[in-house]
Amino acid sequence: MAVVPVYNSLILPGANTYIKTDYYEKMTGKHPVTDERVVLIVMRQNLNKDELSNDSFYPIGLAGIITEINDEGYIVVQGRNRVNINEVVIYPSYHIDVSISKRAGLDDLDPEASEARLKEIKLAVARFSEGFQWGQAIRGFIARWNSVAEAAAAISPWIMNSNEERYHILAEDSLAKREELLEQLIYENLEMSRIHNEAKSAQEADYQKIYRESAIKKQMEYLQKELDELHPDTMTDIRKFELKIQEAGMNDTARKEAEKVLNRLKQDGQNSAESGMLYDYLDFVTSLSWKREAPRFIDLDEAEKVLDEAHYGLKKVKERILQQIAVMNLKKQQSGSILCFVGAPGTGKTSIGASIAKALQREYVRVSLGGVRDEADIRGHRRTYIGAMPGRIMDGIHKSGVSNPVMVLDEVDKLSASYNGDPASALLEVLDPEQNHTFTDHYMNVPYDLSGVLFICTANSLDTIPEPLLNRMELITFQGYTPLEKEAIASKHLLPKARVAMGIEEKDLILTDEVLPLIISDYTRESGVRGLKKRIDTLCRKAAVTFVRGNHEPVTVTAENLRDFLEDRPVKHGQVKDSAKPGNVTGLAWTAVGGEILTIETLFTAGKGNLTITGRLGDVMTESAKIAISLVKDCFPELAEKFAQNDLHIHVPDGATPKDGPSAGITLTTALSSLVTGIPVSPHIAMTGEVSLQGTVEAIGGLPEKLMAAERSGVTKVFIPKDNEEDLRDVAEEVRDKLTVIPVGTVSEVLSALGIKASE
Ligand code: ADP
Repeated sequence: MAVVPVYNSLILPGANTYIKTDYYEKMTGKHPVTDERVVLIVMRQNLNKDELSNDSFYPIGLAGIITEINDEGYIVVQGRNRVNINEVVIYPSYHIDVSISKRAGLDDLDPEASEARLKEIKLAVARFSEGFQWGQAIRGFIARWNSVAEAAAAISPWIMNSNEERYHILAEDSLAKREELLEQLIYENLEMSRIHNEAKSAQEADYQKIYRESAIKKQMEYLQKELDELHPDTMTDIRKFELKIQEAGMNDTARKEAEKVLNRLKQDGQNSAESGMLYDYLDFVTSLSWKREAPRFIDLDEAEKVLDEAHYGLKKVKERILQQIAVMNLKKQQSGSILCFVGAPGTGKTSIGASIAKALQREYVRVSLGGVRDEADIRGHRRTYIGAMPGRIMDGIHKSGVSNPVMVLDEVDKLSASYNGDPASALLEVLDPEQNHTFTDHYMNVPYDLSGVLFICTANSLDTIPEPLLNRMELITFQGYTPLEKEAIASKHLLPKARVAMGIEEKDLILTDEVLPLIISDYTRESGVRGLKKRIDTLCRKAAVTFVRGNHEPVTVTAENLRDFLEDRPVKHGQVKDSAKPGNVTGLAWTAVGGEILTIETLFTAGKGNLTITGRLGDVMTESAKIAISLVKDCFPELAEKFAQNDLHIHVPDGATPKDGPSAGITLTTALSSLVTGIPVSPHIAMTGEVSLQGTVEAIGGLPEKLMAAERSGVTKVFIPKDNEEDLRDVAEEVRDKLTVIPVGTVSEVLSALGIKASE
């Protein structure tokens, strides 16, 4: 008798078991045709395929008869009697021998109940298979079932029960109980299949819905596009925004926000109170450039040419800019260090920003920070505010139309904090390369990448720029122009530009050689060239009027008739006076508008040691005055009592301009020394330097501007601190040539050079 192990099969007395022919051959080593007809089916306990052993099998098996060997590779074994497997012998060739004994069953089945049960099962299976494609054929198949066991065997290829559960049915001795178990197995599996099918079809319905939805959407888009092309003018705003949002290339967050706002616009309708705000928002974000621009290689020679074309001089500044461009080229970056151009008005800080943009072949945008007191000016207002607007930075980006403009932040020194937050700290975030790639403007409420923007700041003075902001920037000083430089700027740039602007041909307006120097010396008083530009513009306008009035002759401006062309009277230059008086000394100051001379006047009046200071001096300068008094008392002990016997008045004229800073120390000391000794100092001698109580002269700032002012005002000799000697390199040659510059280390060096000493 061939022994055939099976696994996960439902084997039952009175029902057929299907066994694959090749499997049968493999397990028994025999061909089914030549084999005896009786076989023993044993159930394996586990699936450890290669190693069969005595305990590989459950102790109850099923003896059966091969009833069919079919062409499709199956043999059919009809189950007959259950047997006890007493002993198993496994040969190395996997041939299995077993000794068996008959297993008695309990024939307790009620035939009527069994009949009824079979009927119910047939009905249930028929109902289950109703929807199937092969339903009809299945019904014929079901009709042939003669027992519950046959029904169970028929559906066994689809049941989900475990090997163990299947064995338990075979092992059940009571026939009635075994049928109950089979009934339960059939109904359970039917139910499981049904649930499975339902879930599957529900899922399919879901998928179908999704596919359908996207197909409809695509179709709609296509049709809408056709319509749009047919009637571009009647496209609704909503439709326009839809398209713009699709095309803007925003990041995910921005697109979602825009879609949200668009949905609100759709829901609220275009006449709702909020629609204007929603409309403005969409208009703003969809017209921003969201595209990242690729860094461009910039030819340095070309860039230099562009810079030279628009601006005369400024050699150091241009050099530094070219360095920056070189670094950006090497690092393939859109931006680099943040430059801050510092200098007096009209020295070309803002306009060179535009040239830089041109040299870099990028867009230029200027953002004025003057008078900004509110954080929202930088970062925007939240949209919940009425009249909310984006901040100046995003507004600038919007104006530029690109994501990588050269942005000049004008007048960073005019930012101020207020109760509405600190704009400087917001600006810090804008300029911080670590943070600015996700700069979030409150109005936009979504991040925007500012890392491609090249920021350039400008300032007149550094005093008011908050320290953290200052640390972030690299300072480049614009020193102001000498008269010769101004003349060159006027003839090469300002005059040609003004002519073009007023529509005057070159031959129609002639300026004699002395005119430009005269305008510079007598009609302007500045470090930059703003005033000069205004005067030149005025000249051109005046000439234009004569042409329009019928004049056909060229207009010639000379030193003599210049006054007729310029509306303003010549400015009284800070020219030093010619007469020297003890107590008066010429000093040099540096203000936001450039260098200035500043005469310090001191006077003793009848009194008893009171001090009066006038001329709007700041705290630091007032302190300098006190130091000067102490120093002079110390230098001239024999004259010190004059301070006790008189009231002292210190005055610095030009009361309109506030003055402060320590650099007048040496001037104050010299003026008081001159006063107490009665020895006058020539007004053509000027000086600058901070002094300490030990009488040393300390370094000061703004030397080039101060020397320029000195030269302009008719000074011939200047004392400067020794520590500033290095700065002389930055002073234009034409200025240095006209001045005798004497570096000094102590107050007494100055006094002895001036011959000031106590009379014996
Ligand atoms: P700032 O920003 O320093 O106040 P601007 O850049 O506004 O100065 O310059 C004022 C005017 O002077 C502009 O018309 C500018 O073209 C002109 N200008 C300044 N410096 C030069 C220069 N070096 N060469 C040619 N034009 C100049």
